Amino acid sequence: MATERTTPEKIRCDACPVMCYIADGKAGACDRYANHGGDLVRLDALTIIESAEDTRLVPFLKDGKDPEDWDGDIVQGKRPFVTAVGAGTTYPDYKPAPFIVSQDVQGVDMVTVVTEGIFSYCGVKVKIDTDRHIGHERDVVRVDGEPVGHVMTSEYGSKMLSLGGVEHLTGGTKKEGRVTCDALLRLCNREAVEMVIGDEGHETTVVVQAGKAPIINGVEEKLMRVGCGSATIGMFAKQWVDHVDDVVVVDDHITGVLSEHQAGKMLDVEPTGIKINGRRSTPGRYFQVAEPGTGWGGTDIEDPLKILGDFNPKFAREGMSLLMVSTTGEQYGYFELNAELKPQPAEIPQALKASAELIAENCEPSVCSVLFMGGAGGSLRAGVTENPVRLTKSVKDSLTFVSCGGAEAYVWPGGGITVMVDVMDMPTGSFGYVPTPALVAPIEFTMRVSDYSTLGGHMNEIKPVSEVVSDETRKVDQFENQPDPMSSTNYRWAKGA
Ligand code: SF4
Repeated sequence: MATERTTPEKIRCDACPVMCYIADGKAGACDRYANHGGDLVRLDALTIIESAEDTRLVPFLKDGKDPEDWDGDIVQGKRPFVTAVGAGTTYPDYKPAPFIVSQDVQGVDMVTVVTEGIFSYCGVKVKIDTDRHIGHERDVVRVDGEPVGHVMTSEYGSKMLSLGGVEHLTGGTKKEGRVTCDALLRLCNREAVEMVIGDEGHETTVVVQAGKAPIINGVEEKLMRVGCGSATIGMFAKQWVDHVDDVVVVDDHITGVLSEHQAGKMLDVEPTGIKINGRRSTPGRYFQVAEPGTGWGGTDIEDPLKILGDFNPKFAREGMSLLMVSTTGEQYGYFELNAELKPQPAEIPQALKASAELIAENCEPSVCSVLFMGGAGGSLRAGVTENPVRLTKSVKDSLTFVSCGGAEAYVWPGGGITVMVDVMDMPTGSFGYVPTPALVAPIEFTMRVSDYSTLGGHMNEIKPVSEVVSDETRKVDQFENQPDPMSSTNYRWAKGA
């Protein structure tokens, strides 16, 4: 890292375009760099991931020494993977990345190029497991009154948000950019962020934290639905046929009706003359039975009978029984038709109560997932090679493995290196920021040394891993669900292609 001494007390940090002057004992604007007695230091420790136990290298025992006497030298210990967390940044990026580290992995010379990228083009995709209505598609998401993103298309059992991006970081007011950057940083570092979705009059307050249940209008969500109303009918039809005449699974998207549904037909359920107030799609499947909301099955209703019209006397009869249940099994009601063919609440038989509880039991816990998404731009790639497009090609050709803080990054098809990664798979505190504003995120490119040479890598900057790992480095275990970035199984050359 080059530093320029301006006064005896202050040094200039050149790790990002802000170029802070930092007095002795103080930190720069991003709190990542500080002046320690005239030296510019990165405040967070470089993070090393130690591979799983079964890849531990066994020390070579000479002279009958006990393996316990082994001093744990890094080359002999668990195989280290140098992540970019705490690695620092280079700016401008034509300079080589802060660490370019080599090691022998099962007879193959591998190299990892490590840098904390400054991402102006980045954001998060948030998946919130809930049926409850949190906002319409395209509704604006605000934090501290500033727009930071919007509601995307819902997925199966989950609501989706797209937050951040260059439009909010740089395209709005200064405050919008600052608030967006701060919200992204906290979300990526697994902190809770309160956001308001929608405009005045139909606002929903949601607290999102990666790996935790969402809190919607002050209520912590518990369960993710077992399926849509139609799927729920299909899954549980057999449990109901002997105990009730009809079942309605209330769902904001697809409400299911047992007696009309194909599952009911297959099990010889007789027509009940039920009438659902909604748009019939196919037999036993209804859309738009109510408005979206935070009530039953993501609708705005608390009284399920509101979605029913009059029963058809041609099929309905007094005493006919009806179970109404939500897609999470958390709400249910049992009714019997009176002489006027109006459903009346009645005591639910034990078998039906148990079926509602079975639905709830089959629901997974509701959680928020936060996926960081960013593009490794032309300048970031130049820190890896003098010929950036070759890196892109190498990634697409499965010769280079891309990870973020050691977690496997999904690389989007098409041009560029646009990555997406679950922040829960990354070491804690992986993200930082700079006040330009932009997010700082770790990114590593791992490949064979021979491939690195071919793509025009900074070969003179390669250091052996033993020179990088020290007592000061922070060591974390490899995440069980993550592949070892240096494993040959990640690479095309190991697959004989
Ligand atoms: S904001 Fe941080 S990285 Fe950028 S110049 Fe200041 S101290 Fe260095």
